[in-house]
Amino acid sequence: MKIKVLGVFGSEGQGQRPSAFLVNDRVLVDAGSVPGALGIDEQREIEHALLSHAHLDHVVGLAFLTDTLAITNAKRPVIATSIAPVVDDLKKHAFNDRLWPDFSTIPTSQTAVLGYRTLTEDVESRVGELWVTPIRVDHTVDTVGFVIHDGETGFVYSGDTGPTERIWQAARELKGLKAVIVETAFPSRLDGLARASKHLTPVMLSREMKKMPSDLPLWIYHIKPHFFEETAEELQKMDPARIHILEQGKTYTL
Ligand SMILES: [Zn+2]
Ligand SMILES: [Zn+2]
Repeated sequence: MKIKVLGVFGSEGQGQRPSAFLVNDRVLVDAGSVPGALGIDEQREIEHALLSHAHLDHVVGLAFLTDTLAITNAKRPVIATSIAPVVDDLKKHAFNDRLWPDFSTIPTSQTAVLGYRTLTEDVESRVGELWVTPIRVDHTVDTVGFVIHDGETGFVYSGDTGPTERIWQAARELKGLKAVIVETAFPSRLDGLARASKHLTPVMLSREMKKMPSDLPLWIYHIKPHFFEETAEELQKMDPARIHILEQGKTYTL
């Protein structure tokens, strides 16, 4: 399984793109950055966008991807996929013909470049060639993380979350996982801000680690650009053998 890091940050900065990952060239896991990280031909290969929640830093690339697809005579639609409240947020607040065109009717309802699919929480579904289970995490809006595998290998993706339980339990129960992609947003001195916005700091991450499968490496994403160096330095001191900050633009193989 191939995971390309299109964007790795919890917002945007100069050369620092919001979070998005592309699995096996076909399935986006969050869509904070898409056209800014991929050529036209690569964008046209995308079939599914798994979305953890509707915050802009996770979906704005989907808005621009649908625009690309509409003006380049798309081969196929991209299917925005999540639990019902997230799909509803996208329809109601993003692709609503106000904030952005309703690409689920463009160029026509029959040939639209954007489709929607609702997944059931805690139930494994087939998405392209992958198996995907959305599991609730604890953020300020309806949010899921995903357990993703192809029958041989796989990973856990936390979504944006503060301290949480169920997704780590699911990760402990499934064999064959190779990595946990987990958010960390702020340095530990900003504990109050992290709690209010339901994100993790390195100190909070070290508590979450006790709930995760102990043998898996942690791949960190979603550090806020403004606090990147400070947070990265803290993380590097914790457990260099196990904790790795993902690099934007790089492709990882599981
Ligand atoms: Zn975010
Ligand atoms: Zn968020």
